[in-house]
Amino acid sequence: MAAPVPSPCAIVHYHEISLKRGNRPLFLRQLQDNIRRAIGDLGPARLAQLPGRIMLDLTGHPDPGAVRDRLCRVAGIANVALAERTGSSLDALRQAVGRAVTKRAFASFRITARRAFKSFPLTSVELNRALGSHVLALRPDCRVDLDHAELDVRVEVLPSEAFVYSERRPGAGGLPVGSSGTVAALLSGGIDSPVAAWRMMKRGCRVVFVHFHSVPYLPDTSQKKARELVARLTQWQYFSQLFLVPFGEIQREVVLSVPPPARVMIYRRLMVRIAERLARRAGAPALVTGDSLGQVASQTLHNLACIDDAAGLPILRPLIGMDKLEITAQAEALGTFEVSIEPDADCCTLFVPAHPGTRMSAEEAAAAERGLDVEALVGAGVEGATAESFDFPPGAGIFPARSSRATPRGSAPE
Ligand code: ATP
Ligand code: MG
Repeated sequence: MAAPVPSPCAIVHYHEISLKRGNRPLFLRQLQDNIRRAIGDLGPARLAQLPGRIMLDLTGHPDPGAVRDRLCRVAGIANVALAERTGSSLDALRQAVGRAVTKRAFASFRITARRAFKSFPLTSVELNRALGSHVLALRPDCRVDLDHAELDVRVEVLPSEAFVYSERRPGAGGLPVGSSGTVAALLSGGIDSPVAAWRMMKRGCRVVFVHFHSVPYLPDTSQKKARELVARLTQWQYFSQLFLVPFGEIQREVVLSVPPPARVMIYRRLMVRIAERLARRAGAPALVTGDSLGQVASQTLHNLACIDDAAGLPILRPLIGMDKLEITAQAEALGTFEVSIEPDADCCTLFVPAHPGTRMSAEEAAAAERGLDVEALVGAGVEGATAESFDFPPGAGIFPARSSRATPRGSAPE
């Protein structure tokens, strides 16, 4: 095969996927699909699966920087670099390294070369030295610093081509969205639940969202926040579905027969039952919440167990061991924080007692629910739910055909 002419490309490395054995091709296929989707609207980019890495040929691409930024948000990617693709002869490598260091200000540098095959005539150490001397000849004002180099020029040599780059950005890590199945996240307008949903995306899940609102008892601010949060989170999973569940009437029913200290827990138990029905329709075998142990009364160990008692699906709580500062920092990095802190009154502020209980048992909850027609309330929530769809990049298309099952009866995705 002829050596490639020097051309621009992006090099994508993954970490966790490379630890998979038998299933690696499945994970890689999902990652490739997600990459194509994430950058599809930006311009032409041919994807090639190479040993241990994915290469995107960006020849003629109008905006390689935008491609890199999008790739940083693709779950499963450990790091991304815009690189020069060139031949794997020493001469070609010298020239590419020379180009990588021109027009850059640096006082110290190092070469980090890796050979993906052992028949290359030089060892990695010899290659580092040969290319390092070349840089020193070009830039005699600079010095080599292996530990604290200002510029790290990386060279990856494959049998018929090589990649040279000097800056790589961390990716999201984890597993590609879609490789771990679907989960249904209970999304409030707060800080925690969007972070919880995102953490599940990073574990390879596609997330469908369920938001409980109290329109017409409260303004529709919480729905607007939920939409904005889902729109932002959709950048990580390309299409999303949001179920908006009317909960105000259900809360009114609860207030009529449940004593104040038990109400929050009964609301929560009804929420998970409704979310469970919607989740099953969406093909999601688990629920997700933004609970963090001890954060508020409903999140003590006893009360979490009491909520679990009402659910027929596992409730995943990815933030359970995180404190508020850690969660807030993640929300800020994610870009959801600014939406979450917008003032609103969601259903959790409607009919909420001043002193909620912290130790409700499943038996006490069942007793408190005796005056309610739980099945009717859950049915009303499910039937009243409306579904909205989101896509990213905008216009790239909505759900795959499978998603039609996710639509609750009586409503249509927009
Ligand atoms: P967040 O936890 O998102 O910051 P919050 O702190 O106001 O919001 P909590 O009272 O901590 O909410 O509720 C715990 C969890 O219950 C939330 O993380 C979320 O998963 C779920 N939840 C609470 N309210 C709602 C709602 N209105 N719609 C959907 N899920 C909700
Ligand atoms: Mg919370």
